[in-house]
Amino acid sequence: MHLERRILITGGAGFIGSFLCERLLESGANVICADNFFTGTRTNVAHLLNHPRFELMRHDVCFPLYVEVDEIYNMACPASPIHYQFDPVQTTKTSVHGAINMLGLAKRVKAKILQASTSEVYGDPAVHPQPEEYWGNVNPIGPRSCYDEGKRCAETLFFDYHRQHALRIKVARIFNTYGPRMHPNDGRVVSNFIVQALKGEDITLYGDGSQTRSFCYVDDLVRGLRALMDSPDNVTGPINIGNPGEFTIRQLAEQVIDLTGSKSQLVFRPLPQDDPKQRQPNIEKAREILNWEPTVQLRDGLTKTIAYFDGMLSAKLAAE
Ligand code: NAD
Ligand code: UDP
Repeated sequence: MHLERRILITGGAGFIGSFLCERLLESGANVICADNFFTGTRTNVAHLLNHPRFELMRHDVCFPLYVEVDEIYNMACPASPIHYQFDPVQTTKTSVHGAINMLGLAKRVKAKILQASTSEVYGDPAVHPQPEEYWGNVNPIGPRSCYDEGKRCAETLFFDYHRQHALRIKVARIFNTYGPRMHPNDGRVVSNFIVQALKGEDITLYGDGSQTRSFCYVDDLVRGLRALMDSPDNVTGPINIGNPGEFTIRQLAEQVIDLTGSKSQLVFRPLPQDDPKQRQPNIEKAREILNWEPTVQLRDGLTKTIAYFDGMLSAKLAAE
């Protein structure tokens, strides 16, 4: 007999997954973290390893998994363009086979299951800001397609399992998220700019820096994912979870320079193919249905993230 909820988090040793593990342990749950450590690390969850309700398991979601759980957060998938384009076939497999395996598990043990989907399902959006009803503008054969189409197919599988097998599903469309424990070399814009600014290196703006993104601090995001998982069974999503505060990439660079007091210069590099020009979530549904909205301003979130990377770089320097 078990009293506490048993929760599986795939990709739990990654950036977002590690915070989710932490928060769910705090809530009294038993947490199983399954990860193949492609982009995640044991270090991200090192502080949880001795926790009596925490279990870390090396597992690739492209293979079936048999564990008795009540809830599954399916977070496994590399999220930064550099990492998901490194082995694009594997990226599609992770999203598609991973979804099939985790949905199969959810069906067998009657667990509720949440999918970490993405704003990338909207592609380079022709509708702005993006509501959940928008079907998107996605290139099916470009360098970002392995990620975008893999995530779109995973959404399809979630809804088919829901219709066909009455599975309890939750689909969260996550917009750009940042915070401590981002991988310093994963090429995402927030980690790149902060590391470049702290090292006094040039800050690389792709294109003219006029493209926009909306950045959500990881604490807000994790609160949103949990609110969705805990919502009534008739709430399936898809539901946008993100911060509607929209900034150009140039504005982000300027904020990072301001907050770090760095002498770094802005330099311009070619814009990657299919780079979306704008992105901002419409979060009316999350506000109404989940009573959720982000509370951390970009400036405050960046300050905490800068402190994290500063500590990491100083520790590295001291060790050399
Ligand atoms: P991350 O790369 O830090 O975490 C992904 C984790 O999944 C890593 O620990 C990695 O090792 C693991 N993983 C990858 N392939 C796996 C496999 N085949 N089997 C088991 N584990 C595997 O990225 P993140 O930013 O924490 O993203 C977490 C999830 O949220 C991803 O599914 C991502 O697509 C989604 N998401 C993130 C963002 C964002 O801005 N961070 C935006 C939209 C969606
Ligand atoms: N970007 C940039 N310089 C960098 C890294 C990224 O100008 O060093 C730009 C990138 O072209 C994109 C935006 O920042 O327009 C966000 O990139 P990221 O890879 O973080 O996320 P995504 O494009 O998947 O939203």
